[in-house]
Amino acid sequence: MGLLSEGSPLDWEKTKDLADHVRKHGIIQFINLYKRLRDRQGDILKWGDEVEYVLVKFDDEAKTAKLSLRAADILQVLNEKEQSDPDNIKSLWRPEYGAYMLEGTPGKPYGGLLVHFNIVEANMRYRRQEASKLLGPNEVLMSLTNFPRTGAQDFTDPPTRSTPDDGAARSLFFPDEAIYPGHPRFKTLTRNIRKRRGEKVAINIPIYKDENVPRPFKEDFSNLVDDESNYAAQEDHIYMDAMGFGMGCCCLQLTFQACNIQEARTLYDQLAPLCPIMLALTAASPFYRGYISDVDCRWNVISCSVDCRTREERGLKPLKENKFRISKSRYDSIDSYLSEQGEKYNDVPLTYDDEIYKQLLDNGIDKLLAQHVAHLFIRDTVSLFSEKINQNDAEDTDHFENIQSTNWQTMRFKPPPPNSSIGWRVEFRPCEVQITDFENAAIVCFIVLLTRVILSYKLNLLIPISKVDKNMARAQRRNAVVAEKFWFRRDITSDAKQQDDGQPEYTEFTVNEIINGKDGVFPGLIPLVNSYLASMDVDADTHCTVQGYMKLIQKRASGELLTTAAWLRKEVLSHPEYKQDSVITQRINYDLLKKVQKIVSNEISCPELLGTCISSKTNETIPAAVAKAENISL
Ligand code: ADP
Ligand code: MG
Ligand code: MG
Ligand code: MG
Ligand code: MG
Repeated sequence: MGLLSEGSPLDWEKTKDLADHVRKHGIIQFINLYKRLRDRQGDILKWGDEVEYVLVKFDDEAKTAKLSLRAADILQVLNEKEQSDPDNIKSLWRPEYGAYMLEGTPGKPYGGLLVHFNIVEANMRYRRQEASKLLGPNEVLMSLTNFPRTGAQDFTDPPTRSTPDDGAARSLFFPDEAIYPGHPRFKTLTRNIRKRRGEKVAINIPIYKDENVPRPFKEDFSNLVDDESNYAAQEDHIYMDAMGFGMGCCCLQLTFQACNIQEARTLYDQLAPLCPIMLALTAASPFYRGYISDVDCRWNVISCSVDCRTREERGLKPLKENKFRISKSRYDSIDSYLSEQGEKYNDVPLTYDDEIYKQLLDNGIDKLLAQHVAHLFIRDTVSLFSEKINQNDAEDTDHFENIQSTNWQTMRFKPPPPNSSIGWRVEFRPCEVQITDFENAAIVCFIVLLTRVILSYKLNLLIPISKVDKNMARAQRRNAVVAEKFWFRRDITSDAKQQDDGQPEYTEFTVNEIINGKDGVFPGLIPLVNSYLASMDVDADTHCTVQGYMKLIQKRASGELLTTAAWLRKEVLSHPEYKQDSVITQRINYDLLKKVQKIVSNEISCPELLGTCISSKTNETIPAAVAKAENISL
């Protein structure tokens, strides 16, 4: 989200009463913006990353590591520079869900020059240092997908208490004080999602059944007033009951601008099948609420953490109050492709309101885009500010954005904002954030390069949406990157017309085969990226940097290097205090995060995670000599 719009949030009853108002005007706003901008042409590649961080406070005497709830104070200082000199800053900082979270992006998007790949990591490092300078003693900024003990006993600094009978989340574990206090949006969303659903969110993630985990593993919540949790908590699962367990996780996202709406639709589609693959490859979150889980990724946790569907909508009760059965949470993988090429792979039934769909068609919007927007608009607003109720639908897009930005899907199709020079964009959202800037830079450069390869080689990666969904489930399983196979298109390089050799269009590959190729069967995404790069005259530093990144991706895919999740597991399982009970104690957590911090600050190396050649030539600015030379555009 951009700078969050300020104002006073309405209570749930008023918000609920205005759901149709927001939908009605949101659709009109989309129609108007579409008519104004559908023919916009000639935008160039621009792109940028978003990295989320947590603040961790170490206590070296007590040997504890806790989430520090000071993000709002830090953010205030970080934003001063932006306010005084918005055009000359190297970073932008935004609030995130947790009172312990920050989100940082580059000050300006990168452009379409190869040499830009060389400044990504340096900018990430700059951001880390810039925020770190504002921290207190023993406070550290970390890019951790999930803090291992979120919601466990005594996980915040200062200490807090959850308030199961009161407040926004009403969680047994996650206190409202751990929700970002500087903007009402976050608490409002928390409260309204719970109220809309009619009960607390329920997140059950399978526990890792190490030898000393009780069988069955069932936590006892029966002494609590809160009957809901007792009913919702499942056996052999880690139970969580608040938005903060998911939205309090960190991720790595990137957005890129397409030259026009068609190209944006193509990229949206072509990248969708890569979401589960990249999720498996970036897996970094095996721990929840102080326990080791049996999954490696946050995706299902975050999906359940904002699942505002009622019992009727989830199919547990006959429809009476609500209009639709809805198959997924508003945070989930996409349900349909947007390009003509994708149409035939749209094989999951789409829920939408026929009248809205027809209204979009009647206004000249094609079937695929109309059903996409109509499908987003099955959701009710869950956060509305009094100042935003009445808008000028010819110019404003707040009601559209209200629904759009609370459909948290693997991909996001972003129309140009009103009155700006920004074009049609696509956001890639599945990746888990890695502990080092090197890894995060590698991932974003790989994805941006892939978009260039897809466009210039006219690759076709499409498979049925139902298969992408299957892959999403597989991607999250423990060790998926080496243990699972994924549906993937068999022939991604030939024209569709040449592909009727009688074989099915898609088959199952390992991540290694998808990334590195399979002899005579599949070319591999990195070999394709490399052949694309080989045709270009790259300066030596950029070449070195990019090669280091591609190697990292290749080795993670082949299993030669561990995923972050696998490494984190290994560290906990081999800790002297670990009792084979899948419990991450304060001490284990402290030692683990201290080690992470030493790796990030280069005090120790970690070849099993990062390999041996991690010294990229990354630079904060483009060297004058390179800038002067005719630089290669992507
Ligand atoms: P959101 O949270 O909605 O995804 P943010 O504003 O946090 O949006 O992040 C947007 C990302 O898009 C940033 O990485 C930024 O650098 C990048 N960006 C900004 N302008 C453009 C543009 N014109 N084209 C592509 N990316 C852009
Ligand atoms: Mg953002
Ligand atoms: Mg965001
Ligand atoms: Mg964010
Ligand atoms: Mg984003």
